Amino acid sequence: MDKSKSNGSQYVSTRGGSSKGAQTKEANRGEMQSSQLMKLFEEELKDIYWAEKALTKAIPKTEEQVKRVEQVFELTGKKAVAKKCEAMEGLIKEAEEIMEECEEGAMRDAGIISAGQKVEHYEMASYGTLRQFAETLGLTDAVALLEETLNEEKIADKKLTEVALSAVNVEASEEEETRTKKSSK
Ligand code: FE
Ligand code: FE
Repeated sequence: MDKSKSNGSQYVSTRGGSSKGAQTKEANRGEMQSSQLMKLFEEELKDIYWAEKALTKAIPKTEEQVKRVEQVFELTGKKAVAKKCEAMEGLIKEAEEIMEECEEGAMRDAGIISAGQKVEHYEMASYGTLRQFAETLGLTDAVALLEETLNEEKIADKKLTEVALSAVNVEASEEEETRTKKSSK
């Protein structure tokens, strides 16, 4: 944070030609933009913190990711606060609906995978944005942490695609086939 600030004013002060007043104005604007971005960064972090914590209940493996978000809060000198993520709540609700409504079998599996991929894509979008914000803000350590989780989310998404392609969709179509055969008899 401090590092990026000093870099910003350095950049302004090395520029020749402009009057002192203009320099201050530009420096102020830069600082304001950076603090607004910091605010946005913090809000997004609170959102994904809530989302990851909600996911921990369903997937215990995500605990490491929760810890990383806490580390990013620490790096920015902010208290780790979760703000309810309406989007993730909706995605989890939809996954639960599929599990309740579909009877066990390949169709249900396909539905669960689809719901899982929606979750991963939401996370990928969030971490991608956070990573970019951190880079702009000069938070190098935060960039590394966010990138680590972003890569895990990408891997999880890829795995789901592989599972969906290899087994579930084939089975689902087979199930459908037997059903049509039965009904045509
Ligand atoms: Fe995650
Ligand atoms: Fe994930």
